[in-house]
Amino acid sequence: MSDLKYCQGPDCHTYNTQDRLKGTKPNKTFQTRRRSYLLFGEFCDRRCSEDWFRKHGTQAVTHFGRITEAKHLTEHNAWVKDYDWRASADDSHRHYFLNTITKEQRPLTEAQYNDSNYTLNTGE
Ligand SMILES: [Zn+2]
Repeated sequence: MSDLKYCQGPDCHTYNTQDRLKGTKPNKTFQTRRRSYLLFGEFCDRRCSEDWFRKHGTQAVTHFGRITEAKHLTEHNAWVKDYDWRASADDSHRHYFLNTITKEQRPLTEAQYNDSNYTLNTGE
């Protein structure tokens, strides 16, 4: 039970579903859901995540950095990781970087593929 976390939806407790109805008879109340798995690690469902964003989204974007000019995808930041299913001689997947602009491919090891910090991109 210790892994249960409360949904952060500001109105979660106001949605009248049976699973939110807790407590014993004269004192039953609808309560914020607790789950071991939460959407984005914080919400019991999409409605609660959208409620949160509607209430706090603008403030959060302002806090973490608003985009004020267009970002550009160039060949310097167009590398994505991909793989071909069971394409290698030993039946393993063939991992590679693909530049989505130049279409150049460069081989990757599986460890490099799984390393989220490993990139060829040199800009945002
Ligand atoms: Zn919720």
